[in-house]
Amino acid sequence: MERIELGDAEIIRVTEWQGSFAPAVRIVPGLAESAWHRAGADHYDPVDGSYLGALQTWVVRTGGRTVVVDTGVGDDRERPATPMFHHRKGRFLDLLAEAGIRPEDVDTVVNTHLHADHVGWNTRRHDGRWVPTFPNAVYHLPAADLAFFDPAAHQDAAHTTADPAADPARRAEWDQVFTDSIAPVLSAGQAAPWSGTRTIGPGLVLEQAPGHTPGSSVLRLSSGGRRAVFVGDLLHSPVQLAHPACNSCFCLDRAQAAASRLRILHQAADQGELVIPAHFAGPGAAHVERTGSGFAPRWTRWTR
Ligand SMILES: [Zn+2]
Repeated sequence: MERIELGDAEIIRVTEWQGSFAPAVRIVPGLAESAWHRAGADHYDPVDGSYLGALQTWVVRTGGRTVVVDTGVGDDRERPATPMFHHRKGRFLDLLAEAGIRPEDVDTVVNTHLHADHVGWNTRRHDGRWVPTFPNAVYHLPAADLAFFDPAAHQDAAHTTADPAADPARRAEWDQVFTDSIAPVLSAGQAAPWSGTRTIGPGLVLEQAPGHTPGSSVLRLSSGGRRAVFVGDLLHSPVQLAHPACNSCFCLDRAQAAASRLRILHQAADQGELVIPAHFAGPGAAHVERTGSGFAPRWTRWTR
């Protein structure tokens, strides 16, 4: 298990999956394939042109808290529009156990946003029902995403760049995600919707960074004079550090997503924050420095 110490905090990386996901030029439209050749072997396969990524969860131990940041894809899901996630079975709970974490030890769950690959292990199947995986945790859910993805609020989606009403298969999958991964947390009384900024523990602050989804957010961590920022899907690949105006194909409001990315990266460069995205393969996290038009990573080193 990979881990780093940051001040008095510990960050543990739990990788649900890592590998080749899709053609790179499809993941970040608007970016020439030549830009990917500079991404490095951890992030781009020059043989078949595929994007290399990861599905991972970050566990933070700080100030007596055990915080899970994003909960991956989950097991046994109906995701027919996303074959890689459909009926997937993984070793997530075993990996958590190997890191010394039992579900009942987790007191805080953060979903940076409510896409399928960030909320899956919010719940697990128990006696034929979906129940919260972490029975003692408060789940911090962005209120804007709760409103947007609630199946009862379809008509509110029309303002997005990629109008989901035009893609019934995707809308149906969002409804399914809400039903199996969000609604059980709401009905268990464990959800804490939030907006604006919210302090959720010592040195732990949630902040909105919308665009990828309406409620997309980052979690800032500070401990012992060190800082990190968990940025969710603000970035899918380090090519977006060099080209920070370029969005992933999953970003719903492109102008807003690019503005949020630039704002968070400039702050990370100014404050020396370790940037921790959800889907970077390879070293997974980096400090960033300005390089004229973009940013360059200084990759972090993990201990095992
Ligand atoms: Zn994602």
